[in-house]
Amino acid sequence: MSAIIEQTTETYGIENWGANYFGVNRKGNLIVRAAENDNLTADVKEIIDDLSKRGIKTPVLLRFPQLLAGQVRKLQKAFKNSIREFDYRGGHMCVYPMKVNQNRAVVEEYLREGKRYNFGLEAGSKAELYAALALEQSPDSLLVLNGFKDRDFIRLAFAGAQAGKNVVIVIEKLSELENTIKLAEEVTAENPVTALPMIGLRVKLYSKGSGKWEKSGGEAAKFGLTTTEILECIRRLNEAGRIDMFKLLHFHIGSQLTDIKRIKNAMKEAARTYAKIRQMQIPIQFLDVGGGMAVDYDGSRTSYESSANYNAQEFANDVIYVIKTVCDDEDVPHPTIIQESGRYLSAYHALLVTNVQDEIETVVEDLTELKLDEDDPQVVKELHDLRESISAKNYREYYHDALEQREELFTMFNLGLISLEDRGKGEVLFWDVCERADEFAQQKKYVAEEFDELRRLLCAKYLTNFSVFRSMPDNWALEQLFPIVPIHKLNKKPTEYATLCDITCDSDGIVDKFVDLHDVKSVLELHKLEKGEPYYLAMMLVGAYQEVMGNNHNLFGVPHEAHIHIGEDGYIIKKVIQGGTIGDSLSVVRYDAAQLHDQFRRNVMQQIKEGELSVKEGDKLIEFYEKQVDGYTYLSPNGSE
Ligand SMILES: *Cc1c(COP(=O)(O)O)cnc(C)c1O
Repeated sequence: MSAIIEQTTETYGIENWGANYFGVNRKGNLIVRAAENDNLTADVKEIIDDLSKRGIKTPVLLRFPQLLAGQVRKLQKAFKNSIREFDYRGGHMCVYPMKVNQNRAVVEEYLREGKRYNFGLEAGSKAELYAALALEQSPDSLLVLNGFKDRDFIRLAFAGAQAGKNVVIVIEKLSELENTIKLAEEVTAENPVTALPMIGLRVKLYSKGSGKWEKSGGEAAKFGLTTTEILECIRRLNEAGRIDMFKLLHFHIGSQLTDIKRIKNAMKEAARTYAKIRQMQIPIQFLDVGGGMAVDYDGSRTSYESSANYNAQEFANDVIYVIKTVCDDEDVPHPTIIQESGRYLSAYHALLVTNVQDEIETVVEDLTELKLDEDDPQVVKELHDLRESISAKNYREYYHDALEQREELFTMFNLGLISLEDRGKGEVLFWDVCERADEFAQQKKYVAEEFDELRRLLCAKYLTNFSVFRSMPDNWALEQLFPIVPIHKLNKKPTEYATLCDITCDSDGIVDKFVDLHDVKSVLELHKLEKGEPYYLAMMLVGAYQEVMGNNHNLFGVPHEAHIHIGEDGYIIKKVIQGGTIGDSLSVVRYDAAQLHDQFRRNVMQQIKEGELSVKEGDKLIEFYEKQVDGYTYLSPNGSE
């Protein structure tokens, strides 16, 4: 690896957060490695150029199913190792929580890989269950149902059991248990030998997770049954003669659990609860430990919100060890552990590539033209003096003086004492003092915080062809960090500091926090934009939660999507799915294209009648308008046509 490539790899932290799936090749392009074989790689820039030639312009979501399968194997192996190491006598199975990414390609790939380990699905709504019931799962896998359930939901669960799936209805509220018992009576009255769903109880643990989702656990959590409610459920099940349906104990203390200590505490509490119930002669088989395995988005391996202070093996070891120890202590059999990890399995496999459209200029750079006049107001002269005499020794003081002079400038302007030209001149001089102050400040070993702020003000703003609300909603809503990397030029040193602005008309549509090993960066090192040459960035690890939570702000639609297989000869584009059109976006908000076309036509006709347009011009206008319905909602990349 060349020294510069080594340097840029470090700047973007690729080896810290990339889980060995990503790297840089000799051309300086970002590559993706096949999970099953490091030597098989795909060049992301080549894929984007290839797609562009086929008319698929950025933004494009690239999906690498092999990475999803790789994560499934990694998790399975970790548990297999721990089970062997600790001589654990129960099994381990996963159920993939569909809410993380319900996309058919994702769920099918997961099931294809997971089949051999009896990995099943978890559904949290009627819509998810409806899909899950038709998908092919291995016969021994579970289909676990969480979330609040009405009678129809429970009825659908019974239908699934009758159709041969190992359905588990996890009771979140007592009323769900009532409905389940009632339906069991009805169904068995008709057919006494038909298969019934199993029942799980979700416990509300006292132990909490850590990080952004810690509300999911603890006494005040939205979900789960208290100890007295659990006992009440058991009483009612006994009373109804249905205690044999109770097979699973469930808990979930939140997503992106950053701290392994918290996880261990929750495991202890849950295992104890399992053991005590088991001692009541109730043969529950499964202990469902929920999801929450975190993705190390910033690569720091800490308990920071965007990270995790453990890896899959450490997680598995702790889960297995704690459950085994508690069960042995209480002298009850080891349960089969069910795990509902979603984020961990699906985050890596998808990345969004898009182009930087332009730079939003904030500072006028050429000051050679600027001349001072005799009759310029005093404040402009002061700023000019500051600019002329700022130095490494006085930059702090001069920067503060400049701030004061700028205040003065605005006050004078608001009082009508200076002209628009004077104000313009003053502002240009002010920003130039700032730039010079920044240059001096950066030369110092220790940069004072006030200059960090200045750097944020001075940095370039790259207008990036995507919607944060559509493609990285957690960055907007929760300030969750995702790694961002150029997909090319990684053999050149990035010389600019920039933040990203998306193309929505929303001042929240920005990215100004970036992953860093020790901190959070407020600016990202990027390359200078070259005229007529596209510059592409990839938003990494966006395969979990982002797609389905992305919204229609400003009617930016679903991006194009391509499925990539990595083989002996590099990449193969397996499938291209066109992104949402302008027509699609409008139908979401209940517009009908035909009706819009009629109305537009009427307007044009009126202009023709009034003699403002010829018939020929009118026809052309109508044709042009109607063609828009099939257009992409995003900007056409610069330099790509
Ligand atoms: C969301 C959810 C999960 C998935 O959590 P991850 O953090 O994605 O692993 C698992 N179980 C339940 C009950 C959930 O609500």
